[in-house]
Amino acid sequence: MENKSQNVVCQNCKASFTVEPDDFGFYEKVNVPLPTFCPDCRAQLRLCFRNERCFYKRKCNNCKKETISTFSPNKNYPVWCPLCWWSDDLDSKKYAIDYDPNKSFFEQWNKLWNKTPKPALFSTNDVRCSYLNLTADNKNCYVIIESSNNENCINCYWIQLSKDLIDCSFANKVELSYEVDDCYDCNNLRFSKGCYSCLDSSFLLDCRGCTNCLGCINLRQQKYHIFNEPYTQEEYEKKLKSLHLDTYSGVESFKKEFQDFTKDKPRKFAEIFNAVNSTGNYMTNVKNNRNCFHSYDAEDNAYSVHAWRGAKDCVDCNTAGRGAELIYNSLNNGIEASNVICGSICWGSQFMEYCVNCPNSNNCFGCASLKKGSYCIFNKQYTKEEYKKLRAEIIEKMKQEGIYGDFYPSNISAFGYNESSAMDEFPLTKEEALKKGFKWEDTERGTYGKETIDWKNFPDSILELPSDFDVNKEVFICTECNKNYRIITDELSFYKRMQIPIPRNCPECRHIKRFKNRGINKLWHRTCMCNKEHMSHEGIPCNVEFETTYSPDRPEIVYCEKCYQQEVY
Ligand SMILES: [Zn+2]
Ligand SMILES: [Zn+2]
Ligand SMILES: [Zn+2]
Ligand SMILES: [Zn+2]
Ligand SMILES: [Zn+2]
Repeated sequence: MENKSQNVVCQNCKASFTVEPDDFGFYEKVNVPLPTFCPDCRAQLRLCFRNERCFYKRKCNNCKKETISTFSPNKNYPVWCPLCWWSDDLDSKKYAIDYDPNKSFFEQWNKLWNKTPKPALFSTNDVRCSYLNLTADNKNCYVIIESSNNENCINCYWIQLSKDLIDCSFANKVELSYEVDDCYDCNNLRFSKGCYSCLDSSFLLDCRGCTNCLGCINLRQQKYHIFNEPYTQEEYEKKLKSLHLDTYSGVESFKKEFQDFTKDKPRKFAEIFNAVNSTGNYMTNVKNNRNCFHSYDAEDNAYSVHAWRGAKDCVDCNTAGRGAELIYNSLNNGIEASNVICGSICWGSQFMEYCVNCPNSNNCFGCASLKKGSYCIFNKQYTKEEYKKLRAEIIEKMKQEGIYGDFYPSNISAFGYNESSAMDEFPLTKEEALKKGFKWEDTERGTYGKETIDWKNFPDSILELPSDFDVNKEVFICTECNKNYRIITDELSFYKRMQIPIPRNCPECRHIKRFKNRGINKLWHRTCMCNKEHMSHEGIPCNVEFETTYSPDRPEIVYCEKCYQQEVY
């Protein structure tokens, strides 16, 4: 039977949303009913369960040593340091509960969740690192999130196979760079976005293969260019020197100049390359991806963010990769994870439903912190036959109640809305969040008014720091939010080596700025704004339509692929 699209009213926000024919196919494949929440409400609910980068110090409830955790110390859950959590000390079956058909599934799940030890942070195989979460195989890194195989990186988000980075996000094979976003195969790049194979350059936007360029946009395979104009090497170096990019004032003033320069330059409707039959933004080498944001080397995914390296048939996922397949309404699954429904961090696991922090397991339902589990429900061990029977019974009841396939209710989340990734994508005030039934965390992170630095009397240039300047003794104040922050020794050495002024915003404000600059994960149907004389639309304005994250009220000039390609240099 041919599936037609169907309109559904969201049970939460009451907005109407469309279930597409392709969606039906997927729901049949994983055997879940149609969702009753719209894609945005589904994402918001999932994300309020993920705290990626709000860190606290608290004691490990097992070894009693102080550890760094995403769980604030006022939360009464047992939280174990990574060493204890991964050790044989953790026997999560000890906390098992019997399923009671007369009680609600989520109420029982919450009971198990409350008493099972949670990992303070989730990362594996990181060496000489601190403040890392959702990471693997990093060396000598500090405060990096959702990243793997990096070395000597500080304050970064989603970086892979990179080295010597500070304040970077979405970087792949990038080295010795500062403040870059969405960049690939680059070296010595600063204050840049959307670049591939660029070297020794600063302030680039959507450039390819450029070397020694400054303040350029949409530039291809060029050397010694400033504001898209060619210079001789000598002129270029002279001009570069005169800008004093080693000073705070020099960087700020060039930033403004570059912003003005890019205003009337066309932008491509989406940052997508080799994206066959796909809608979304920030995608490379993808096929049949619908409504996906930040996805690469992946196919047949929908309504997902970070569907990467081999992700296939992942729907409603925030982070699915490394061969993840058939994952629905879930957070952070990878390393050959497959057939996961409403799961979080089931790395290397198969046939998992409503399980959280259960790596290398299979055939589990409603489990928490269970490593290498098999045929368990609420952490209790069953035989294969018993498991099959009870699982079917629970699902049948959940289907009758219309909750099977829905993510956990927000009041079960361990995190305040303001600690969670939902805040990045769907920012709310405390009042709004509480009104919508989310939690809020009042524990204050960081300090105010403890600064030892007065920016008014601070040297403008990194080269003018006094020789006895001891960064470990200094407390900085963010010019944006007034919060105090510190700079670690390795960070200062990097700024000195790169001749970059010390940032005057706290790491959090820097992260938020970069994220804002990427735009939100939402698509608008729009028409190409080109009215130039192009072959494809001779004598008339172009009318190619596309899905773009540039909302109609944005000031950017947005072009279709064809028109954009004719405007690159
Ligand atoms: Zn909704
Ligand atoms: Zn411990
Ligand atoms: Zn700040
Ligand atoms: Zn066009
Ligand atoms: Zn055109």
